[in-house]
Amino acid sequence: MRNAVEIRDLTLAYREKPVLWDIDLEVPEGVLMAIVGPNGAGKTTLIKAVLGLLNPAAGSVEILGDALSKVRHKVGYVPQRTSVDWDFPTSALDVVLMGRYGKIGWVNRPSKHDKALAREALEKVGMSDFSDRQINQLSGGQQQRVFLARALVQEADVYFMDEPFVGVDATTELTIVDILKELRSQGKTVIVVHHDLQTLEEYFDWAFLLNVRQIACGPVQEVLTAENLRLAYGGRSAFLEKAIQRDRITE
Ligand code: ADP
Repeated sequence: MRNAVEIRDLTLAYREKPVLWDIDLEVPEGVLMAIVGPNGAGKTTLIKAVLGLLNPAAGSVEILGDALSKVRHKVGYVPQRTSVDWDFPTSALDVVLMGRYGKIGWVNRPSKHDKALAREALEKVGMSDFSDRQINQLSGGQQQRVFLARALVQEADVYFMDEPFVGVDATTELTIVDILKELRSQGKTVIVVHHDLQTLEEYFDWAFLLNVRQIACGPVQEVLTAENLRLAYGGRSAFLEKAIQRDRITE
């Protein structure tokens, strides 16, 4: 099977300090994968490097077997909500329509079909009633839903999402999880920066554990071993204790 993402020998530094060190990663097509690791592990940096937003010191990245420049229209990105200027004066519907520009070009006006897709996506994320609302008048969770709708209308094959669950309520979290699983059932690959180990097994089928260096990648259960968690997080955490117990039971 083709890989959705293939990273070879990727090293990236901010000034002199290495933030990602010699990463090799193969993400099979069709998985719902979490990138996990402690704060400052390089998770956001990895996504930005894959999307060509940062220049690595070394290494190469392929998406769907090609250079990003050739498959950009097949890639969707939901950045961290806090990294976006929400004071930009625009409605929720317009934000979603921006997701269509990769398909229609910046100079063309969105067609009826584009608008219908945008409305449909807003409905899917439960935001139909807010389509005309200015985005700076939405709550954090509502903004996140609109951002997800924007990604959906891109009709991409590989999605990258940076901490989509941060600052959202439980209902929004479940809406987002349902949509991620639906994307997977359509054969899409979804790669999500996630910081909550407790929900990892429930939400994802694949995980990449990172702390500057890669620690493990594969099915969630295989990645979440006590040894791997210790390597990534050091010390002892409640979650690590659980993993140790589980390892003992399965040994
Ligand atoms: P994570 O997403 O895992 O929390 P990041 O990828 O955001 O980690 O950051 C990895 C490391 O790179 C951190 O030590 C962070 O302080 C550093 N870093 C991130 N962005 C910059 C930047 N623009 N300039 C310098 N250092 C940065």
